[in-house]
Amino acid sequence: MIYKRSSALFAEAQKVIPGGVNSPVRAFKAVGGDPIFVKRAKGAYLYDEDGNKLIDYIASWGPLILGHAFDPVVEAVKQRAELGTSYGMPTELETKIAELAVSMVPNIDKIRFVNSGTEACMSAVRLARGFTGRDKIIKFAGCYHGHSDSFLIQAGSGAVTFGSPNSPGVTQGTAKDTLLAAYNNLEEVETLLEANKEEVAAIIIEPVAGNMGCILPEEGFLEGLRALCDTHGTLLIFDEVMTGFRLAPGGVQELLKVKADLVTFGKVIGGGLPVGAFAGSKEIMSHLAPEGPVYQAGTLSGNPLAMAAGYTMLKHLNDHKEVFKSLEEKTAYLHKGLEAAMSTADMPWCINRLGSMISLHFTEEVKDFATAAKGNNDTFKKYYHHMLNSGMYLPPSAFESWFLNDALSYEDLDKTIEATAAFVKQ
Ligand SMILES: *Cc1c(COP(=O)(O)O)cnc(C)c1O
Repeated sequence: MIYKRSSALFAEAQKVIPGGVNSPVRAFKAVGGDPIFVKRAKGAYLYDEDGNKLIDYIASWGPLILGHAFDPVVEAVKQRAELGTSYGMPTELETKIAELAVSMVPNIDKIRFVNSGTEACMSAVRLARGFTGRDKIIKFAGCYHGHSDSFLIQAGSGAVTFGSPNSPGVTQGTAKDTLLAAYNNLEEVETLLEANKEEVAAIIIEPVAGNMGCILPEEGFLEGLRALCDTHGTLLIFDEVMTGFRLAPGGVQELLKVKADLVTFGKVIGGGLPVGAFAGSKEIMSHLAPEGPVYQAGTLSGNPLAMAAGYTMLKHLNDHKEVFKSLEEKTAYLHKGLEAAMSTADMPWCINRLGSMISLHFTEEVKDFATAAKGNNDTFKKYYHHMLNSGMYLPPSAFESWFLNDALSYEDLDKTIEATAAFVKQ
């Protein structure tokens, strides 16, 4: 494949945009080479500026669960745009999408819409702090909750310590309120809660992790967190920005039957437009302005175009629950095929999957950030470029889940499996 025009466009972009991109992972730093500039997309396929056609396993990092330029969503946005693109006033549409979301997701009475997953997580934590009157939060190493200061904290040498900032610009003052634990390690969480009695406002977690590749919660882990939160008066926040409306209509709460106090959404809920949301019980959500004292706002929050896209997407998923089954079957098929292709490989590997989230790690077992990091190696980079040259657009990082979309055909999946088999042979 030729990427001449993409490379030229990247060179131009770098002159006026830091690193040439508006979100770092797009720059291909983790895999090397220049990023691909996309011209258009439809269904499961991307068409780039050089005229290449790629099978897309990212789907805009999750939102496009039904494929690119899904006709009903495109139509809804077009129609809505004619009526005005923003008002800064309430619309009936906002109530309609809120009612629909509340009816689909267990354990939530009220939902507030924002413009991104970052905003949703940042606001949910502020609400948890305002509600409990406590300052600290616990997060898990390798879980991503957007780029707000409190979340850019990484484990130092020991995970059970105060975090140190992961990025310049995050103050020590902020970092000290974020406590870190390893994913799937209940004892670490318990130790943190015991050592910080009546100080921890919330535990925030990706209930199925997707930002260190796909990692499943071990049996009893989420239930254990729920019990610890109840004991300590701490709120449990499920960050379902990736999993919400993807793993099940009601997300992980429905799928794994564990109740969260607050849930955050993004990605699928916007149908490809910038939308995030956070939701919870009436009691907790009533602390939010203007009903309560915890401030949160947004000029473009509830934007009519975004709400039209999101509503159309959620409505379609709610009316066609068979989509979740279809996605599960496609991803299981891919899982089996990749397993068969890898079985003769003379290298360590493992595949983690739940529903339509799947990742192939080039290391033996991945259950937390430390084990995921072992898969960020040369084999991954080689595999990435091999797949790209074979016409498959995978996430350009060993720390990202693949996101299947229902527009993918079995032929697309077969091509992906065959290309993987060819990689193993080489
Ligand atoms: C993508 C993501 C976010 C951040 O959402 P943005 O819309 O990129 O700000 C937060 N949490 C999780 C789990 C995500 O996958």
